[in-house]
Amino acid sequence: MQLLENAILERGRVKDGEVLKVDAFLNHQMDVALINELGKEFFRRFQDQGVTKILTIEASGIGIACITAQHFGVPVVFAKKTQSRNIDGEVLTSQVTSFTHQRNYDIIVSARFLDPSDRVLLIDDFLAKGSAMLGLISLVQQSGAQIVGAGICIEKGFDVGGEAIRSLGIHVESLAVIKEMQNGQIVFDHEIEPA
Ligand code: 5GP
Repeated sequence: MQLLENAILERGRVKDGEVLKVDAFLNHQMDVALINELGKEFFRRFQDQGVTKILTIEASGIGIACITAQHFGVPVVFAKKTQSRNIDGEVLTSQVTSFTHQRNYDIIVSARFLDPSDRVLLIDDFLAKGSAMLGLISLVQQSGAQIVGAGICIEKGFDVGGEAIRSLGIHVESLAVIKEMQNGQIVFDHEIEPA
């Protein structure tokens, strides 16, 4: 998606060779008008899938998921990263390895908010090694709901996550796919972006 690629080139920064900082517009300061265009694009790509719920992971996914959800007219559920005392009743959990923080943590969601009749769209800011997505996929599978696909803002196409998730038969739509980012130079891959 050209708009997002331009934002990455103009406002993103490559840190330590492998981390792309997009905190100027996506996951710290948030460019709401831009994110609204991303939400519209996710809607365009998944509008025929009968989505009933959007599932994301705190914290960076929440804003993107909420703006996207307004286009679908469905609620957002976000997986929490710690065992919260505010969750009562049955909970679903899985484990995620954080790429950016280099540690493992549990994610948790109340079973009340994922019903077997739900058709769930997963949304996140990045897809890198795939651990966050695999954690969300596990939560949905435990609930008995259907996964209709995964909407990713930025996929690191050179990393293993895209293949890991697609090989499960999950329909992944990434709005920008990075082929390489060596020496601070970002090169996009348009091969696996369908539209
Ligand atoms: P994965 O679990 O696929 O390895 O990584 C996905 C998660 O790690 C995303 O939720 C995102 O927050 C974070 N992440 C992975 N790579 C990057 C990156 O290059 N930049 C930023 N800002 N976050 C990243």
